[in-house]
Amino acid sequence: MSLLKVEGLTVQYGEQRVVDELSFAVSGGESVGLVGESGSGKSQTALAILGLLPSQATCSGSVRFDEVELLGASNRLLNAVRARHVGIVFQDPMQALNPYLRIGRQLRQVVVAHGGVSAREADRRVIDMLRRVGLPDAERQFDAYPHQLSGGMRQRAMLASALIAGPDLLIADEPTTALDVTVQAQILELLEEIRDDTALLLITHDLGVVASRCERMLVLEKGRLVDSGPTLAMFASPGHAHTHALLAAAPRIDRATTLPAPGERSMLGVEGASVSFPARGRRRLDAVVDVSLSLRRGETLAVVGESGSGKSSLVRAVLGLLPLASGRVVYAGGELEGPVERRAMATRRDLQLVFQDPLGALDPQMRVRDIVAEPLQVHEPALSKRERQERVSAALQHVGLGADFLERFPHELSGGQAQRVAISRALILEPKVVVCDEAVAALDGSARNQVLGVLRQAQEDTGLSIIFISHDLAVVRALCHRVLVMYMGRFIEQADSAALFLRPRHPYTRALIDAVPVPDPVVPLKRAPLRGEVSSLLDPPSGCVFHPRCSNAIDTCRREQPAPRDLQGTRVACHRSEELEL
Ligand code: SF4
Repeated sequence: MSLLKVEGLTVQYGEQRVVDELSFAVSGGESVGLVGESGSGKSQTALAILGLLPSQATCSGSVRFDEVELLGASNRLLNAVRARHVGIVFQDPMQALNPYLRIGRQLRQVVVAHGGVSAREADRRVIDMLRRVGLPDAERQFDAYPHQLSGGMRQRAMLASALIAGPDLLIADEPTTALDVTVQAQILELLEEIRDDTALLLITHDLGVVASRCERMLVLEKGRLVDSGPTLAMFASPGHAHTHALLAAAPRIDRATTLPAPGERSMLGVEGASVSFPARGRRRLDAVVDVSLSLRRGETLAVVGESGSGKSSLVRAVLGLLPLASGRVVYAGGELEGPVERRAMATRRDLQLVFQDPLGALDPQMRVRDIVAEPLQVHEPALSKRERQERVSAALQHVGLGADFLERFPHELSGGQAQRVAISRALILEPKVVVCDEAVAALDGSARNQVLGVLRQAQEDTGLSIIFISHDLAVVRALCHRVLVMYMGRFIEQADSAALFLRPRHPYTRALIDAVPVPDPVVPLKRAPLRGEVSSLLDPPSGCVFHPRCSNAIDTCRREQPAPRDLQGTRVACHRSEELEL
């Protein structure tokens, strides 16, 4: 018998149908993946099942949980089902956690609501559950407020709150999308551990996650169910063209990738860069410590590492958006000094930045035409209106956007279109170097591939050099010539992309690669390669900063900081890199 049975579910906003006659079922103990691109209706389906749609939405069909109809049910019934039988995990934990209540109290309320336990017993169960979801130092975090936890810790706290009532079904909507791959691997491992007791409806655009966790999958396109079946069979021979397209767009580390060779000429050099911020009690937080890099013409250099690794601080200092505490930046043979506003106009136009969130970076009140034209007005004011318009049209065409986009506002664009507008704005001045800060992280498969194609083409056409900050190693392998790995602001490893993925020399690099989910259900599941959290930058560990999480650490690692050195073409900072077979 089905635990959850959805029949003919339709969700509408006015005339617009976002979920269209959707039917599926989830049995007890089963893991089902609901996949599709952004806007395909996945999250609306979850909200409809849970009775959490906004009041403007109209909903029809049937949602039965354990034979009880939920669609149109009273709040009392819905609350009872949500509290006892259906756990919910969202992408953004702050949506589910009360910011004013300590984590422990929030979870205690759930346990006490079930009755029959003393406050002391409830606290014991809460701490047990916090431990089970891998929250480090569970007793201490019991008293923490949500904002005091890192993103990964908050996600675990939300998972604990969803699981503590022992639900029969867990609905997880993009539960790992905002997390580092290492934390994602831990959360997915946890979902695997609970699958004997709890059915799972996993909503995601990441087919690697579905391949590793779900025995069945449902494919949505524009609100309609277009394909469904056992995950193994659908990956082996997708029945529907859209499933095929989703599988083709799924990021996977392709070790055989070859890229056109970059030039020899150095474009940008960073020597011994350090960045620090003031912290409480006259302390300093060292976000970047003595990191060097070099970038050649026509080269793409990836900078990778978990949140807090200093990637963004490093490139912001290079661009003059943050001050360097020490070190120097050399561009075109000269030293770049001071903040961006004091740098020469020519240098400013040569170095451009593309952000992660395109909609946040584009002025919502400006039309695409004016957004893309703005840099020309600043840097080439002598252009006539007609010349400017021609340049804007050509720049948009380069990123695959036709004339019909000129008059649109940012809110009329999809995520992928907005990012292409942001890139055409960055490229219209024909810069020499573009820094992409997680520029494709928020995009799903096809939009991500479009943006990567635009960057590759610009590199081929103009010899553009790119610094590509990313936590997605599959994308890094597909796009980047060389990779610089950072951890807690420190240099970890730097090598040619092919060599680094074939034979990483640092345990941290190995763990990052192993944490990437493989979009192939035949590949056996690996254990999450990293335990624990990144240490506090305010109180970094002695010796090698990675040693608290490194299974290869020896006494020397705890005492002495490893200096970067060359090892067969790789530069690596690890005491044991010669002897370890990673
Ligand atoms: Fe691990 Fe030691 Fe190497 Fe650091 S120096 S990565 S602790 S083996």
